[in-house]
Amino acid sequence: MEVMYKSTRSDQTVTASQAILKGLASDGGLFVPVTLPKLNVNIEDLKDMSYQEVAYAVMKEFLTDFTEEELKNCINKAYDKKFDTEEIAPLVKADGAYYLELFHGPTIAFKDMALSILPHLLITSAKKNNIKNDIVILTATSGDTGKAALAGFADVEHTKIIVFYPKGGVSPIQEKQMVTQKGDNTFVVGINGNFDQAQSGVKAIFGNKELEKEMNEAGYQFSSANSINIGRLVPQVVYYVYAYSKLLKEGEIENGEKINVVVPTGNFGNILAAYYAKNMGLPIDKLICASNDNKVLYDFFTTGSYDKNREFILTTSPSMDILISSNLERLIYKIAGCDDTKNKELMTSLNTTGKYDITDEMKSELVDFYGNYATEKETAEVIKEIYQQTGYIIDTHTAVAAKVYKKYKEETNDNTKAVIASTASPFKFTRSVMNAIDDKYDSKGDFELVDELSKLGNVKVPNAIEEIRSANPLHDTVCEVNEMEAVVKKFLGI
Ligand SMILES: *Cc1c(COP(=O)(O)O)cnc(C)c1O
Repeated sequence: MEVMYKSTRSDQTVTASQAILKGLASDGGLFVPVTLPKLNVNIEDLKDMSYQEVAYAVMKEFLTDFTEEELKNCINKAYDKKFDTEEIAPLVKADGAYYLELFHGPTIAFKDMALSILPHLLITSAKKNNIKNDIVILTATSGDTGKAALAGFADVEHTKIIVFYPKGGVSPIQEKQMVTQKGDNTFVVGINGNFDQAQSGVKAIFGNKELEKEMNEAGYQFSSANSINIGRLVPQVVYYVYAYSKLLKEGEIENGEKINVVVPTGNFGNILAAYYAKNMGLPIDKLICASNDNKVLYDFFTTGSYDKNREFILTTSPSMDILISSNLERLIYKIAGCDDTKNKELMTSLNTTGKYDITDEMKSELVDFYGNYATEKETAEVIKEIYQQTGYIIDTHTAVAAKVYKKYKEETNDNTKAVIASTASPFKFTRSVMNAIDDKYDSKGDFELVDELSKLGNVKVPNAIEEIRSANPLHDTVCEVNEMEAVVKKFLGI
C-alpha cells in the first residue's frame, strides 16, 4: 500500500519522494505519513540482519514509491566504509543501560546517520520526478550540521553544497573540520556576521524568485538538508529497530519484551523517530525525553504548556540548546487527532506569542513520554561517575540522557531495560568531557586533550579527528552578509 505524506497544517498531500524534494510543505507545515506503517518482518528474523538489511526492512515501509533497487542503492552508498565500524551503530552495555553509539560516521555525531543517506534519497527523488536540474544545497550552520551535510554531499553527483558559517562564531575545531572538507562540489564560506544573519541570508536567497529563474536556466535548483525533511527522519527509525534486534541476538531480552528508550533531545527529531518505531510495532514502552538547562520540553511534558519565552542558555551540550523544537509539531499534529486546523492554530500561537497550551485530551495522549532535564553540574558529575565506575567515557549530550535516566529510575522504580541514544563521540566535545573528569586538564591544548582522552578511555582517536590534526584548509572565502548571494552565483558560475 502506498504511504502518502500530508502537511501538518493543511490537506496538501504528496508522495514520499516529493516530500523529500520539497522538505517543508508550502503552507509551512511538516510532512507526516498519512498512516504510520507497520514493520512487515518478524522480530525474530531481524536478529541475523545487518544494519543495511534492517534499514531496508524499515525504510521500504515509509518510502513506498522507491523501487527495491533504488532504496537498496541509497542504503549501500550511505552506510559503507565512511563508518568506522561494520555494525554502523554498535550497542555497548555500561552502567546498567545499553548505549546505542550513533557516532561512528564521518563527523562522529548522530546527524551522520541521516545526512549520509539524505543526498542519495534526494537525487533519487529528483530522478523519479523527472527533475533534470542539479540540486544545490544551501545551509547556514552554527557548527555541527554544516560539517555533517558537507560530508554527506561531498562528491555526490548532480549535487553541490554551499555552507555559510559565522566567522569567529564556531569553535576552532568545528571551523577546521569545515574548511578542510574535500570534494569538488563543496563550498564553505565564512561570513562577517552571526549565525542568525547567516540563516536570514540563506532564507533570503531561497526566497529570491529572480535568482530561482536564473538558476533554472543554468540547470540548478535549491534544496535544503534541514532536519525537518522526512528524508532525515525515516533513516533514524532504523537504528531503534536495529538496537532491539541486537538485544535479542545477544540474549539480553526475550522476543516481545518491552524496552525503554532515552534520547538527549533538541529539535525532537531523534525521539520522534523512536516514537515512530514504537508505532511500527517495535516493543518500546517509555520514551524518555532528556533536556539540558534549556528545558522547554520538560516543562511541556509536565504542564502541557509550550513556552519559548525564556532565557536562552549556552550549555556544554550545544546541539541541544534549542527553544523551538521543530519536529514536536509532528507529535502535536498526531495527538490533536491528526487535525491540521487545530495544529495550525497552535503553531500560529507559537509564532505570534511564543507559546501554546494543549488540551487535557491531547495531554492524555502523551502517556508514552516522560520528560526531565539535567543541569550543567549534573551533566559533568555523571560523566565522571560513569567513567570512575565503569571506565566508559560518554560525551556531554549523552550524559544529559544518562542523568535523566537515573532520575527516571529513582522516581519510578521502573527497571525495564533501556537503550540510551549516544549522540556524539566524547572526542567531539573533548574539553568539556575532560574537564568533567578532572579540572587539571583545563590548561592543556585541544589536541593534547584528545590524546589524554584516548589514553583514559582506552579508545583509538577517531579518524575524523586524526584527519583535521594534519589537514590543510581548502576553503578560505570570507564575505559580508550582503554579499552572500553574489558568492553563491560566483560558485555556480552564473
Ligand atoms: C542534533 C543533536 C542532538 C539533538 O537531536 P534532535 O534530533 O535535534 O532532538 C543531540 N545530540 C547531538 C550530539 C546532536 O548533534
